[in-house]
Amino acid sequence: MKRILIAALMLASSLAYAQKAPKNIILMIGDGMGYNSVALRMLEAKGTSNFERFNSIGSVKTYSAGGRITDSGAGGTAYAIGEKTYNGAIGVDTNKQSKPNLMEIAQKNKLATGIVVTCALTHATPASFSAHQVKRDMYEAIAGDIINSNVDLLVGGGMKYFAKRKDGRNLIDEAKTKGYSIYTDTTSYFSSDAKKAMVVVADDHLKPANKERGNYLAPATLKTVELLKKENKNGFVMMVEGSQIDWAEHNNDAEYLKTELADFDKTIGAVLDFAQKDGNTLVIVLADHDTGGVTLPPAEVNSLSEEYGNYAIKFSTGAHCGTLIPVFAYGPGAEKFQGIYQNSDVFHKIMQLKKWGK
Ligand code: MG
Ligand code: ZN
Repeated sequence: MKRILIAALMLASSLAYAQKAPKNIILMIGDGMGYNSVALRMLEAKGTSNFERFNSIGSVKTYSAGGRITDSGAGGTAYAIGEKTYNGAIGVDTNKQSKPNLMEIAQKNKLATGIVVTCALTHATPASFSAHQVKRDMYEAIAGDIINSNVDLLVGGGMKYFAKRKDGRNLIDEAKTKGYSIYTDTTSYFSSDAKKAMVVVADDHLKPANKERGNYLAPATLKTVELLKKENKNGFVMMVEGSQIDWAEHNNDAEYLKTELADFDKTIGAVLDFAQKDGNTLVIVLADHDTGGVTLPPAEVNSLSEEYGNYAIKFSTGAHCGTLIPVFAYGPGAEKFQGIYQNSDVFHKIMQLKKWGK
């Protein structure tokens, strides 16, 4: 009898843990970051990679509604609205209809929201969470959506789509009238107490990690976390993107890739440190798709020795791939992200954890 009681208590407490709703959600997207890119990062980091701090691991099937291989528009949109759509779509379904995205749903539920990226804010991944347009290259229209998105903190590049537009509108001035503070460098943002801000630090995309970007993504993410947490006692939803992992892979540029992965890994570490202390934050790290088809064969392929020595970094394509993508989760609800499921299910898992009706 006593044993049954103990077993029942253990089950009840594990169920209580399983159902604990995370207050804050931080979704981290390594654009183009497939399993072998993560493996490369782990090899390079020699056991110190923050990817190894997760214990809830799953895989997502990333294909889009239109094709077996997704682009970042359909990939980002699947996470943002919970539906697979056609390649190039930004926050719209297969019928080109706008669907509420995670940021809008969070706002409706009185949470703070933020986006931090290393590309132009108008680029496909951040746009999927802040705009609704039928084509990803409609950058000026996307910028128009962004200033009306009400996302509290927007950090990235893309000033030309806001302030040097073909239609002559100055969206930076318009954003100010909507309550946004504008920062054009991170130093002034880091010392600010901003509640609603656009931090637009580059004309287009930020520089690559191995070319003058410097220490940007981790501190910009941490500052945004700090401000969102202070701003709203109901919690926050945030999307952080290592945008240029994908570009390094498109270019088949191993050195660029290594530095982008290291930069993203460092940012994951900073976020996990916060989440560990906070205890109410669910961190989900994933990618929209694989790019480049990275493999890590032995560097010396002619060796007959069983000692292969070092690995080489090889790319099998300059395009996106149809491979499974890893999902790493930490915090309350993390176990929900184990298993193999559709990319669009990530949204629904978050909705269930937050008990948000669509
Ligand atoms: Mg992207
Ligand atoms: Zn790409």
